[in-house]
Amino acid sequence: MQETKLKIAVQKSGRLSEDSTSLLKRCGVKFNNGLGKLKSEAENFPIEIFFLRDDDIPEYVADGVADVGIVGENVLAEAGKAVDSIEKLGYGKCRLSLAVPKNFAYQSLKDFDGKRVATTYPRILSAFFAENKVNADIHTISGSVEIAPSIGLADAVCDLVSSGSTLFTNGLREVETVMQSEAVLIARKNLPADLQVILEKLLFRIKSVKAAKRNKYILLNAPDEKLDEIVALLPGIKSPTVMPLAETGWSSVHSVINENDLWEIVEQLKIVGAEGVLVLSIDQMIQ
Ligand code: ATP
Ligand code: MG
Repeated sequence: MQETKLKIAVQKSGRLSEDSTSLLKRCGVKFNNGLGKLKSEAENFPIEIFFLRDDDIPEYVADGVADVGIVGENVLAEAGKAVDSIEKLGYGKCRLSLAVPKNFAYQSLKDFDGKRVATTYPRILSAFFAENKVNADIHTISGSVEIAPSIGLADAVCDLVSSGSTLFTNGLREVETVMQSEAVLIARKNLPADLQVILEKLLFRIKSVKAAKRNKYILLNAPDEKLDEIVALLPGIKSPTVMPLAETGWSSVHSVINENDLWEIVEQLKIVGAEGVLVLSIDQMIQ
C-alpha cells in the first residue's frame, strides 16, 4: 500500500520561497528543491511539496489539489477561497496600503471619492472602500501598480508595502493601511483524519521553530556572591541552570530569554557583575 502523504504547496520563486523552504527544513523535513523543480517528496517525513505561483495556492488548496499551503494573508484574502487558516508564520510581513502622489493634499479617506485607484487587490480594496463608505473607481491591473499615477492611469494606488522605498522612488506617499499581512499556513476544509495527523505533527514542529526564533540561549559567568541578583534577572524555561566553574567563587549560569528583552537584560547583567556573556540562537524549542 502506498504511504499517505500530506501535499503542501509553497511559492516557487518569490519573497516567500526561501523562508518557506527553510521553515520546512528547520522542521527536519529533508527534500530537494533544486532549480525548476515543481514537485518534491520529502525523504524522512510523509509530505510532498508542490512549488507554485503564490496566486494559485489558495485555489489549489480549496480544490484539494494540495492539502495545505503557505501563502501571504493578502493573497488569501484576495482569492476569497474557503480554506482554514491554521497558523501565522511570522515572515513575509507587509501591509496593503493606499498611496497618493506627493503633491496630493490628502486629509481623509473621503478624498478617494470619485478617484481612480489602481491595484492588483480589487476584492480587498472594494470591501475596504465599502466598509468606509468611499465611492472610488477601482482599476484592476496585474502588476507595476506604482507607476500608474505617473502615466496617468490612476490618481492613487493600493499596493503592498514593507519599507515604503518603492513608493517613495515613484513619487508616492502612503496614507492609509488597508490590511496587515504575513505568511500563513492554510489547509483545505474537511481534511481526512490520516492527513490531519500528519498536519498536527508538522504544526507541532512549526510551533517549536517559531518559539525558538523568539528566544535566545544565554550563558554567563557569575561571581557566587552575585548569583541571587543574576538569577533574578533571568527567567529561564523553569529557572536558570547554575553550575560551579573550576575556579572557586564563580558559577556558570544558563538560561533562555526572549529576544525582545535581550539587550535590556544583558546590560543589567553586566552592571551586576556577570562576565563572559554568550548569546546563542536556538534551533527548536519543544514545549
Ligand atoms: P508569484 O510569481 O509567485 O506570483 P509574486 O510576484 O506575486 O510571486 P512576491 O513579490 O514574491 O509575489 O510576493 C509574495 C508575497 O510576499 C506577497 O504576496 C506578500 O504576502 C509578501 N510580501 C512581503 N513583503 C512584500 C513586499 N514588500 N512587496 C510585496 N510582497 C511582499
Ligand atoms: Mg503572485
